[in-house]
Amino acid sequence: MMHIYVHIPFCDSICYYCDFKRRLYEKAVLKLWFKQIEKEVNALDLRSISTLYFGGGTPSCLPLDLFSQLASLFTPYLCKDYEWTVECNPNNINEALINTYLQAGVNRISLGVQSFDDTFLQAIGRKHSSQDVFNSIQRFREAGLNNLSVDLIYGLPNQTLADVKNEIRTFLSLNVPHLSIYALQIEPGSIFGKKGLKPCEEGLDANMYECIRQMMTEHGYEHYEISSYARDGMYSRHNRCYWDDSDFIGIGWGASGKEGSRRYDHVDTLSNYLQDERRVYVEDCDAPFESIMMSLRTCFGLDCQKWERKYHQDFKKVYDKQLQTYVPEYLYWKDHHLICTEKGLEILNTILVDFLPDD
Ligand code: SF4
Repeated sequence: MMHIYVHIPFCDSICYYCDFKRRLYEKAVLKLWFKQIEKEVNALDLRSISTLYFGGGTPSCLPLDLFSQLASLFTPYLCKDYEWTVECNPNNINEALINTYLQAGVNRISLGVQSFDDTFLQAIGRKHSSQDVFNSIQRFREAGLNNLSVDLIYGLPNQTLADVKNEIRTFLSLNVPHLSIYALQIEPGSIFGKKGLKPCEEGLDANMYECIRQMMTEHGYEHYEISSYARDGMYSRHNRCYWDDSDFIGIGWGASGKEGSRRYDHVDTLSNYLQDERRVYVEDCDAPFESIMMSLRTCFGLDCQKWERKYHQDFKKVYDKQLQTYVPEYLYWKDHHLICTEKGLEILNTILVDFLPDD
């Protein structure tokens, strides 16, 4: 079974908080970019794709004929019960786009909402309104596409705890089965970073996190990953492959991939990618630690038997000191899985520092 991530690095505009690998949409480079993507795909032995994820950037800003061309590189290889997610911005959604996606076989949409409040949307440089969000959700549903996920950000400039509660109330009123919600990070390469914007106070940040968790779980959503909530088991199957140490293929400039204990990226800039689409392997990847780091984010935890088989180490022996410190208050055992308690999730970064290799 294969998991594939395709990075579409183009955006209609640049959000103030964004430091992802993305570029303003430029018609002139699209053809060349697609050629490189085709080269990457042709070099693969594609078969039985279990999860396919088009992320970005903004995949929904691709012209629809190009989207169909891109889709057709993968559709013959989708397995029977595949999950195919496309990230969309609410201002791109129209009937033609929905029809094209459905025809191609897309069955999950991740909607970049970030806030339901127009004042905050403007403050972070988003080009859509809350009404665009409501309209697009309705449109997808009318077309029969119900496997929807919303992305939100909390800790926005001047946002209060009451504002965050309102965001969650609005989310809950929409009856969407999946939420990904992240604290605003001030990245040095973002517009906010360059303007020297200060991050939200740590205490407020933590209160917001806790308030979100309470409201979401009270309404029947499972907090299945530190930033993700799902109802009725509608997890992101694709994201689970990142968290459970599975291999995945990354295609396109800005995409990473994993083959066993090896990670790879692509060249640093889009213009370099247009000349060289080959993978760049990461030399100093610490796969055993990364596996711990990713899996402790989830409510499924780290499968220690699998980890020991893969990395040929005795987990309890190697991490005896750490286990004594954190079990049972912050970490607990369920069969052979090591899992974070809710309290552990709140201090996950501190726990992980202790799991870092010594050198
Ligand atoms: S946040 Fe998303 S839409 Fe905004 S600039 Fe970054 S990649 Fe593009």
